[in-house]
Amino acid sequence: MTAVPDDELPPPTSQTLHGDRRDGVEHGAIHKPIHTSVQYGFDRVEDLIGVFQGTVRNSFSYARQGTPTSAALEAKISQLEQGIGSICFASGMAALSALFLTLLRAGDHLVASRYVFGNTNSLFGTLGDLGVAVSKVDAGSADKVRAALRPETRMVFVETVANPGTQIPDLEAIGALCRERGLLYVVDNTITSPALFRPKSVGAGLVVNSLTKTIAGHGAALGGAVTDTGEFDWRGYPNIAASYRAMDPRQWGLQQIRKKGLRDMGGTLAPEQAHRISLGAETLSLRVAQTSATALALARFLDAHPAVGRVHYPMLESHPQHALAVRHFKAGSWLLAFELHDSARMPAMLDRLQLAIKATGLGDNRTLVIPVAPTIYWEAGPVVRAEMGIADGLVRVSVGLESADELIADFEQAIA
Ligand SMILES: *Cc1c(COP(=O)(O)O)cnc(C)c1O
Repeated sequence: MTAVPDDELPPPTSQTLHGDRRDGVEHGAIHKPIHTSVQYGFDRVEDLIGVFQGTVRNSFSYARQGTPTSAALEAKISQLEQGIGSICFASGMAALSALFLTLLRAGDHLVASRYVFGNTNSLFGTLGDLGVAVSKVDAGSADKVRAALRPETRMVFVETVANPGTQIPDLEAIGALCRERGLLYVVDNTITSPALFRPKSVGAGLVVNSLTKTIAGHGAALGGAVTDTGEFDWRGYPNIAASYRAMDPRQWGLQQIRKKGLRDMGGTLAPEQAHRISLGAETLSLRVAQTSATALALARFLDAHPAVGRVHYPMLESHPQHALAVRHFKAGSWLLAFELHDSARMPAMLDRLQLAIKATGLGDNRTLVIPVAPTIYWEAGPVVRAEMGIADGLVRVSVGLESADELIADFEQAIA
């Protein structure tokens, strides 16, 4: 099902499991403890000064900029994405807003996929109000991205698999274009997660993950992360403040995002949440393998059902970017969407589901279903919905860990 070399994926589970123990073990604890301290004291004033001046590294001063617990999670995310460093935030949206607001300035231009998470799309509106122009293009074609570029373009942003329509950008060709033009390539890897795809492999400079979804998995903690893959040369990026230009250029981007985005804007991940997300991450590759297999079985079942219209799932041969999906992703993920031929029957069908829960949310261990147009895309309005290819009767399914047989039986009785 995949052309990805085996030695690259899945992520090395053993390292995820043993990372806390190998890096700064405390009292033999096999988990990184939940450090609730806000302040950190020093024996020598030079060390306190050094933390502020950036000469003492891997130390803590005030928890808004991180704790040992969030640092342990950051190390895990960096290892999963094979990056040079990560910063955790209170949610995926906190990570995205910190990234955009600290790296873009009024007069800059951002090229983004037209098919992005609804709240990210709404955030683009805020960027517009602040003087950052945003062009939304069909990133399934790198030529459309190329055509949108301007002299003041700073960044190209895409998501690996769009929610809910499962569109996939031409990840590799856009990466090559960004490299050619010296542009920062930012990939939101939330739906696929590093268990299925590493954006670094297509030249992404920064990777965003909503930890709330696939990585934490249990629907019991919010979190987000930005990872620097080491692929982007920050020396060519004009918006780095002078104070960060003094250090190793590989650190410029993350340092600016940490200082401006975490210290100044304060979207900090709480240590309790970092701990829960770390526990979830231990089973990431197991969960994703199973939810992807179940989602494919459910997609095939729905695709063959006479009452079902279009089914959107990247690993179906009928998917418009199926070849891209097979080339890049180890499996298809837990996200699928479908329409009934008779959309008037959709609400009653959803009400008959016994196992799948009618709820918003993604990447939970339980299967969640939601009619998209009247809920999460209601505020966006009919014009944006049409632009994004969201039909009025579209149902999104986030496939959980229930057995495929039970789940398919549930949909079968609900559709009948
Ligand atoms: C959910 C989601 C986000 C936002 O994450 P939160 O943790 O809910 O703030 C960002 N991008 C994508 C693709 C998402 O699915």
